[in-house]
Amino acid sequence: MAQKPEQFKDLGLDSRLLTALDHMGLTTPTEIQDRAIPVILTGHDLIASSKTGSGKTLAFLLPALHRLMKTKALSKRDPRALILAPTRELAKQVYVQLRSLTSGSSTNIALVLGGENFNDQIKALRKEPHVVVATPGRLANHLDARSLMLSGLELLIMDEADRMLDLGFAKELNQINEAADHRRRQTLMFSATLEHAEVNEMAEKLLRSPKRVAVGAAN
Ligand code: ADP
Ligand code: MG
Repeated sequence: MAQKPEQFKDLGLDSRLLTALDHMGLTTPTEIQDRAIPVILTGHDLIASSKTGSGKTLAFLLPALHRLMKTKALSKRDPRALILAPTRELAKQVYVQLRSLTSGSSTNIALVLGGENFNDQIKALRKEPHVVVATPGRLANHLDARSLMLSGLELLIMDEADRMLDLGFAKELNQINEAADHRRRQTLMFSATLEHAEVNEMAEKLLRSPKRVAVGAAN
């Protein structure tokens, strides 16, 4: 029996996010959004996969922002959410969608990419951003330089985890995990595929009793 497709407004998201989606001309979630958003809203850790172009970015940004809007910050100083992406280009794409969702709000976002001026990034991090979007290598450099602390981190999100691991970022992911090591953190891992031994190993280490959502997979 064909079901009426779920609309974004049926997912229980904050009205400010619904307004932003409206401005972006989006009404109907994609399958990964429809399935991942409710799980993330329950506060569970999640490992999720669906193919490129299926809308994974909003599948994590919407529930992440919802959580930040609905809860009090653990720390005034530390970022509340950290989103890691494998490349500068992909991190920028996440940043652009994040800006669209938060335009007109006072959300302070820092984009921390490899290949850009380190001292400028230190200045941006001193402004106590709520959300940091970063490539793993440069983020790890800032942990080494103590230009940011992650002890108050509420959400750790790894976008394209398979590619991050293929690019050799396992060490940085472990370092970031340890810097943000506390029980109240929610961790999300998105990947094009879950058929990737290293992704599963990393999930084992970084996620706590994760739920799994796989769109378009055999299992
Ligand atoms: P993925 O990360 O899975 O490769 P993206 O998050 O980059 O996919 O989304 C791919 C494209 O689909 C983007 O241009 C995005 O704006 C668009 N998109 C995302 N969600 C929806 C939706 N619910 N309805 C229509 N377009 C969408
Ligand atoms: Mg993506």
